Amino acid sequence: MSTLNETHNPALQSWVASANAPDTDFPVQNLPFAVFRRKGAGEAFRGGVAIGDQILDLAAVAKAGVLTGEAAAAAQAGAQDKLNALMALGTTAWSALRMALSRALREGAAEQAALQACLVPQAEAEYDVPARIGDYTDFYTSVHHATNIGKQFRPDNPLLPNYKWVPIGYHGRASSIGISGQQFPRPVGQTMPPGATEPAFGPCKRLDIELELGIFIGSGNALGEPVAITEAEDHVFGICLLNDWSARDIQGWEYQPLGPFLAKNFASTVSPWVVTIEALAPYRVAFTRPEGDPQPMAYLDSAANRAGGAFDIQLQVGLQTPQMREDGQADASICRTSYRHAYWTLAQMVTHHTVNGCNLQPGDLLGSGTLSGPTLDQAGALIELTTGGKNPIALPNGEQRTWLEDGDSVVLRGWCERDGAARIGFGECVGTVLPARASKV
Ligand code: CA
Repeated sequence: MSTLNETHNPALQSWVASANAPDTDFPVQNLPFAVFRRKGAGEAFRGGVAIGDQILDLAAVAKAGVLTGEAAAAAQAGAQDKLNALMALGTTAWSALRMALSRALREGAAEQAALQACLVPQAEAEYDVPARIGDYTDFYTSVHHATNIGKQFRPDNPLLPNYKWVPIGYHGRASSIGISGQQFPRPVGQTMPPGATEPAFGPCKRLDIELELGIFIGSGNALGEPVAITEAEDHVFGICLLNDWSARDIQGWEYQPLGPFLAKNFASTVSPWVVTIEALAPYRVAFTRPEGDPQPMAYLDSAANRAGGAFDIQLQVGLQTPQMREDGQADASICRTSYRHAYWTLAQMVTHHTVNGCNLQPGDLLGSGTLSGPTLDQAGALIELTTGGKNPIALPNGEQRTWLEDGDSVVLRGWCERDGAARIGFGECVGTVLPARASKV
């Protein structure tokens, strides 16, 4: 488990002045990774590290020969067009690179002159999905989400009896995961309208968001060799924001008996920046179970997981309608919650996923599942915020929303703050709904 070291010292300042602004997502204590290139310059994508409003170009850093030893090797691995090679190196290499970059980006560092030439303004950059995602698995780790949504699909039996024992998940689709800025047409498909006797076909009428975190696997495990919970976090490279867009009317008709299919795999959006587990060390919180709930089985339990296996990551969802965009209004907040409310930790997800011998690989993505908190204003999906479409939410300009409409943009944000630690952030994850394509069926 990652512990505190000099890189987390809240007093650290960077020679990149914008990294010292109190509200920046990217102070020198954060140092998240993305793949980027200059917009419109015909360049190759390569890895970069956020510092203030700049990106430290890892390809340029590797070429400049500023770093040595394991940190230099890690920067070289991070110079490729996807982060899989860096992810595969493991915790020692990631830590060595973090330590070297923290020291080289601090005020007064001897490397300043050499690294100054390796900075690219974020305002001039575009991003790609950070890894070649071989497999995407989506979990269901918020008991509040599971209960709220269960009430609507199964009013008499909202929380199924396995929920408090098994970290529920299913295999999703990697090919349709896009980077922040993703725009996608409203999906079409089969639905069973209320009261109808036969299904209908057409554009989805109940298009929804899912506020999730995406967990990128670092070093993998061999097929047949489970990952013990005491080692699970060593296999996690970092965390990004994830919007797992969902077509509720398609889901309601198709989901039995094998679970969601076309309701989920038309688009999922990730944020460009991946915040490492080491950067998140100051924001760990105890993993606890409510009074009367079963304790996790032995393979899902460890002293470290109990003491600090959960993370207090603040989360927010913003919605911007076409009218708001036209009027120059920013997105309006429709949800505020924290990852600390999850019922299962990321270590438990990794261990459960591999307990049967399933092999995870560098760059695999695990979704946390919709991260709803205990009260309805902390719900991470419209199906909860509007109680299944019955209570539209009011936006500040007088508009209302029950489900997403064409042209709507959704912005996920995440950050961590705590007394005695620097504030760090995840940047933004933005996606926009386009009108449905004309159907030929
Ligand atoms: Ca989901």
